[in-house]
Amino acid sequence: MSNIEESEFVKSKRGKWSKSGVPHRGWRCVDIEDLGEPSTTCGMCESQEIRFVHFMEHSNYPEVLQVGCVCAGHMEGNLAASQAREASMKSRAAKRKRWVTRAWKISAKGNPHITADGYRITVYPRGNGWACTLAGLVSGAVQHSRRYFKTIEEAKLAAFDHITKKSA
Ligand SMILES: [Zn+2]
Repeated sequence: MSNIEESEFVKSKRGKWSKSGVPHRGWRCVDIEDLGEPSTTCGMCESQEIRFVHFMEHSNYPEVLQVGCVCAGHMEGNLAASQAREASMKSRAAKRKRWVTRAWKISAKGNPHITADGYRITVYPRGNGWACTLAGLVSGAVQHSRRYFKTIEEAKLAAFDHITKKSA
């Protein structure tokens, strides 16, 4: 994943950068996604392989474009903003990777639990699988996962995704 390359693609007007009818500025980022590995091509320069996808919307364009960091920055006229988004996606990805192997404690009932990001998270066996409970440390509100998970790791990751949703 090279941002330098994508800068070159922007400069040399690859893909939609040279297509008429495609706005080149005034776009807005509406969502971001981590694909886990570079697995799609930027929808704007049509050249950069991307892992972190910025979903860009424009009032004068019919579709949402899924693009890389540098194209996104140029499209919205704020490279610092797209870089900050990507950096926070990366740090979330690294944190998620460490999550299941963090030092989970074992409760009196034998269930793994951890305190993080303002929640006490407990995973416990339910049915043939695992479920999780999130208790807000400040609010005291308790949420139970609606789903069952096949493995304890999946239950832990579901809790992580819940507490980090959209904060990335
Ligand atoms: Zn691009």
